[in-house]
Order: sequence, then C-alpha cells, then structure tokens
Amino acid sequence: MSKTPFVTKEQIEEIVKTYPTPFHIYDEKGIRENARAMNKAFSWNPGFKEYFAVKATPNPTILKILHEEGCGTDCSSMAELILSEKSGITGYDVMFSSNETPAEEFVKCAEIGGIINLDDITHIDFVLKALDGKLEDGRKLPKRMSCRFNPGGVFTLGESREDVQVMDNPGEAKYGMTKDQIIEAYKRLSSLGVEELGIHAFLASNTVTNEYYPALAKILFKLAVEIKEKTGIKLSFINLSGGVGIAYEPDKPANDIAAIGEGVHKAFDEVLVPAGMGDTAIFTELGRFMLAPYGHLITKAIHEKHIYKEYIGVDACAANLMRPAMYGSYHHLTVLGKEDAPATETYDVVGSLCENNDKFAVDRKLPKIDIGDYLCIHDTGAHGFAMGYNYNGRLWSAELLLREDNSVICIRRAETLDDYFATLGGFWDVEI
Ligand SMILES: *Cc1c(COP(=O)(O)O)cnc(C)c1O
Repeated sequence: MSKTPFVTKEQIEEIVKTYPTPFHIYDEKGIRENARAMNKAFSWNPGFKEYFAVKATPNPTILKILHEEGCGTDCSSMAELILSEKSGITGYDVMFSSNETPAEEFVKCAEIGGIINLDDITHIDFVLKALDGKLEDGRKLPKRMSCRFNPGGVFTLGESREDVQVMDNPGEAKYGMTKDQIIEAYKRLSSLGVEELGIHAFLASNTVTNEYYPALAKILFKLAVEIKEKTGIKLSFINLSGGVGIAYEPDKPANDIAAIGEGVHKAFDEVLVPAGMGDTAIFTELGRFMLAPYGHLITKAIHEKHIYKEYIGVDACAANLMRPAMYGSYHHLTVLGKEDAPATETYDVVGSLCENNDKFAVDRKLPKIDIGDYLCIHDTGAHGFAMGYNYNGRLWSAELLLREDNSVICIRRAETLDDYFATLGGFWDVEI
C-alpha cells in the first residue's frame, strides 16, 4: 500500500509563487467526503452528531466546511469557543469538553448556548456559582448538560492481534468522574432542573481498530441502563468522544468508519433498545479521524549534509509539526515529482531547531533528494499546525486550502516577525 499526496509537484511549483514554503495545505474534497462517510456510518441514529474537536485544526474555514457537512464543534478553551461562535456555530452544535476550566469559559459556553460537559462532580457548584443570575428564565443551570466518565483501571482491546492492540490507562488519567460520582452528579443536576443529560468518555487515543468505538459504546450503554435503573434518569445522549485514529504508516490497514458505525449500532440494539432507550442520541468528538489525512505539510529541501549519517535539512521544523519530536510519531514522506523513483537512499530529514529531536524522519528510505525538492509530509491535517510553537524564534506557517475546483486559497497567513515581536511592543525600552 502507499500514500498518495493530494497535490502534485506541478501544483506546488505554482502555489509557492504566491505562498512560500513551509505551509500546511488541506484538501476540501477529502474533508467533505470523509465527513459524509462519517455521517452515513451513523445515519441509523437519528440524533447523531459529530462535534469536530477544534483543538485538532483550529481554523474557521475548516470549521465552516465541517459545519456545512452537519458537524458541530467540540471546544475546550475560551479561544475555541470564540472561534466556533465567529464561525457561526453556536447552541447545541457546540460541545464544551474542557477540564480545569476557568469560570469565565463556562459563562461563555452558556452565553452561546453550548453544552457544558462537566469533568468533575465538584464542578456542579463551580458552574452554579459562575452562572449565578446569568441564565434566562431564572434557570440555575442550562437545560442540557453532560458529565465525563472515567472507568479507572486499564482499558485493553484486541489483545489477540498485536497490530490492532489498544491499551490506555484511564486510572492514570486526570479526566472524568468515577461511577459513584457520576451517578451522584446526575441526581444533583436533575434536581437542579437540568432536563437533558448526557455521558461522555475518552479512553484511548489514535486507535487503529474498528473495535474501539463499539467496545466503548458498550461500556457507556450499559452504564446508561444502570443509571436509569438506579435513578430513573434517562440519558438523552451518549458521547463517544475522540480517539478513532488513522493509519500513519502506509502499510497499516485504515479504520473502516462504516464498520465502526455498524459495531456501535449492534451494541445499541443489544443494550439500549431492550432497555427502552432506543431514542438516545449518539455523539462523537473526532479530531484526527476527521482531518489528519486531509492535510500535508509542504516543505523544501534546503541543505544536505554527509557526516555519520545522511541528512536532508528542510525549511519546516518541529515548530510546524511537533508530533515526531514529541511522540516519535511516524509521518509518511513523499518527495514530490519522485513518487515512482526507487527508495535508494537512507536519510534523516531534519528541521532547523537547536534540538536533536527535530527530525521528521529517521533512517527513512527515500528516493535521492536534491536541494530544491519539495517534500510532502503526510497526515498533518489534525494536531499538526495546531500544536505549533515559536521555539528558536521560528514562525507559524500559513494554512492553505485546496478547493474542490483545484484552486488554492489562503485560510491563514504566515506569521511575520512583526507578529512575533508584537507582545514586546512598548517593552523594548524597559530600563534595568
Ligand atoms: C483531543 C480530544 C478529542 C479529539 O481527539 P482525536 O484523537 O483527535 O479524535 C475529542 N474530545 C476531547 C475531550 C479531546 O480532548
């Protein structure tokens, strides 16, 4: 199997005349088709909604495209709430799955009518105080709210097949409430006038298996039935959150969203329908799955170096894509124009940071790279640009969009030195 870039060398040679490298470019067609496949996979559930995790790709143009395809936003900070609001996405199209949340952010979420997802039972009092006197009709709390669940322990899946093994450690995770707490929280919220309650859990990240969502769904569905039996409270929605991953390596099988949707459907029919909860809405909060494959970081080879290893120096660095440096993540690389050339060389492809982990690829087999070649770093559409930073005074790149008609527009300009120095304006002359 291989990964094919959604842009060609010829297209990039045109684009760089206006927008120099490095830049992230997104594929509108791919984004829309994938969003439609996502919605189709869950179309058996009338209340289904995907709330795109804004943190993955916080760009208003991207949010608007996804909104046109029926998605909402999942926010977790003031900036993300404002981004959503300014992109025209408000009300129940906004989920606020935050943690360690400042009071003013709960207020902002309530103001735009979003769904507050409480990370802890103590946050009930915190939110009551934050919203005191601010809601209409004398309400104490919004009509619709959610609670985040943490089952504790270790979550495992697919133990029989190493290639699909999933393991994560909810017991060590800071998020969510215990089972006893969440049941208590629902009783309290209900007594405070919250009419539509939901549950949310995020147990494993970047799962590359069709079994994660169905397994998580089963846990949450069973808990929802237990909550109904114990408290009489019937949850209105169940939020499977993020965590459906993508295959970053070209030889790994990709997730099949139709199979994942069917797996959740099966668990729904087995657990919720017999309990009289067949009208429960399913929500998701995917980031990576919605966007990662539909973004490339395009960078130019500007140096080659032959010491104890062979290095290719490029004009992007970890400040533009942190995942390889931070997690040792694999990102596939294509040398544009050399798609079919044999991989005769072994390179470390490196950026300019004064940090030796600034390597997009280590010991990677690639075709011979010449100075001036454009490299496409795949799967940067989520948690790519978004995780950028300014270390070593490196600036944020532009974000471009390849439209469905093959035209290219800029959806965020590159940062300039003036931007970088703006927070020092007026402080240049501090006397010491
Ligand atoms: C990060 C995050 C997501 C999205 O995760 P992906 O791995 O990108 O799918 C969804 N919900 C919450 C609460 C998150 O923190």
